[in-house]
Parts: sequence; structure tokens; C-alpha cells
Amino acid sequence: MNKFAAVLLASTVLCGTAIAQDQVVVGVSWNNFQEERWKTDEAAIKAVLEAAGAQYISADAQSSASKQLTDIESLISQGADAIIVLAQDSEAVGPAVAAAVAEGIPVVGYDRLIENPDAFYLTFDNKEVGRLQAAGVAAVQPEGNYVFIKGNSADPNADFLFEGQMEVLQAGIDAGTIKNVGEAYTENWNPEVAQANMEQFLTANNNEVDAVVASNDGTAGGAIAALAAQGLAGAVPVSGQDGDHAALNRIALGTQTVSVWKDARELGKKAAEVALELAGGTALDAVTGVVPFAGGPKGVEMNAFFIAPVAVTKDNLNVVIDAGWVSKDVVCQGV
Ligand code: BGC
Repeated sequence: MNKFAAVLLASTVLCGTAIAQDQVVVGVSWNNFQEERWKTDEAAIKAVLEAAGAQYISADAQSSASKQLTDIESLISQGADAIIVLAQDSEAVGPAVAAAVAEGIPVVGYDRLIENPDAFYLTFDNKEVGRLQAAGVAAVQPEGNYVFIKGNSADPNADFLFEGQMEVLQAGIDAGTIKNVGEAYTENWNPEVAQANMEQFLTANNNEVDAVVASNDGTAGGAIAALAAQGLAGAVPVSGQDGDHAALNRIALGTQTVSVWKDARELGKKAAEVALELAGGTALDAVTGVVPFAGGPKGVEMNAFFIAPVAVTKDNLNVVIDAGWVSKDVVCQGV
């Protein structure tokens, strides 16, 4: 080895950029980092991989379904032994997932369903998240005009959440005590789109909106901004999910009613563990804790793992503080 090569080797070893030949490489394809939670998911994945001596490589599709296809190709060509995918568009990502599977690279559909029998599905129980959102709002406002700020239509979670919400509210809708006065998907889960949709629903109903079932904390923030502009923030219950710090603060302040907390640290940890198991040759149906799943739109039979979500309201805000998810100062700011 010449002197320059030796220096290069020494610095790559020091800085950790070299991939040892026998090192397991796990690639993660993120759709974006718009919501606060995804950096937490990422940190948890990285921590497990690092502790196992595995290499983390990643790509950010920046909300582009077509970029995500090339991102996954790139992770494959960089030598990924397993790939974790947070899909921007669960249908559009199909060919890239199929390409990885065809090369014998295991794929974990992360948080959002990718309906392919050769992929693993790892998520929280999204229908249960929807049930908890609706129940949280209905506990405060069991009757009246309801608005539904749904998620991104290319994300299967949007419909799982809505199904869960309807399981709780359908009886009231049938009985006529609850009226659905507005329902819209939120393109790319964009809070500004949620705000604009909420403004339209308020205008269309002469501000007579009694409850808002928003599908995550980002869209809840948008809806609450629209309510605030009409002097209604705090007067109308609003749901969310993720345990975003701003949302937990809004719960303490009284402008948001419930956030469904999903410990992203747990999901990230499990994803890295599953990826390592699969990269090591474990079969999909032999992954630790695996359960069968066929609840997607096409009914494809898959191997899955679910984590239970937790509803957080004013009454149990200590749960997220005690778990080290957020500090009391952040939750109680301005209260
Ligand atoms: C996730 C939510 C998240 C949303 C927007 C959903 O698929 O389950 O936790 O808020 O995407 O990123």
C-alpha cells in the first residue's frame, strides 16, 4: 500500500465512512422529514445499527415518489443488505421494492403499508390510532357537526385512520346526532393545506363546526390556526397524532384535545432489529414477534409487527414526560 492509500484508509477508519467487507449495510429510504417524529425514528434506527456494528445509509425523497424510486435503486447499488422504506406513495414505490426483492434484498415497509407479500410490514396499529382520535374528540363533543382533516391520499395510513375514526363515530352518524360536514385528504400531510381546507369548511358551515378529527399533529396545527382566526381555538375539540412537541404544548394550553402518541423510538429500534434479522437470513415469517396481516386494500397476506399507540390528553400528559419523550418545560410553555 502506498503512503496516500494508507492515509486514506486511516482517515476512513477514523471517520467511519469505510464499509468493511463483512459489515451489514442497512439502507433507509425516507419520503421526507416534514414531521418532527422522523428524525426520532432515524436516530433510533441508527443507534441499533451502530451498536450492532452495521452501516446506516439513507436517502431523502423530498416528497417525490419518482425520486424515491431512484433513491432505492441507489441504496441497492451502494450494497444495502436490507432496505427500510417510508413510502411517499405506497403504489408508486412498488417497482423499486420488487427490484430489491428480486435481488434478494429484504424490504421493510416502515410505518406505511407497501402491499407486497415479499416485504415485511412494521407499523403502529393505525386503525387504533384513528379510534383513539375520534374517541378523544367525542369524549368532549359527542354530537354535532364534525370535520375530518384526513392524511395524504397516497399514504394508506390516511384510510386506516379514517376507518378507525368511523368505527367510533358511525353509530352517531347513523343516528343523526353526528353530522359529517366536511372531509378532505391533505396533500402530502401539508399543514398549510390542512389550514386551507379547514378555512373552507368553516366558511361553508358559517363557522358552525363542533369537532375536528385531524389525522396528525401537523394537520391539527393547520386546523387550529384556521379556528384561531375565527376566535374558535379552544372552543372546538381537535385531535392529532405523533406527540409533536408543539401539539403536546397545545394540549396543555387547551387548543388541542388529544394527540395519539406513537413512540417512534420503539418503531425505529424494531425496524433496525428486523432489518438485521432479515439481512442475516431469517425468513419473513420467522421474525421475532411476527403476526399475519391481510388488512390492506388488496388483501395481500403479509408478515407484520404492530406497536400499540397511546392517547394523550390533558389528563395524562405526564405519560410522555415520564417516558423522556419531552420535557415538562416544553409541554407547559405559556401555561
Ligand atoms: C404517519 C404519521 C405521520 C404522517 C405524516 C403517517 O403515515 O403514520 O405518524 O404524521 O404519516 O408524516
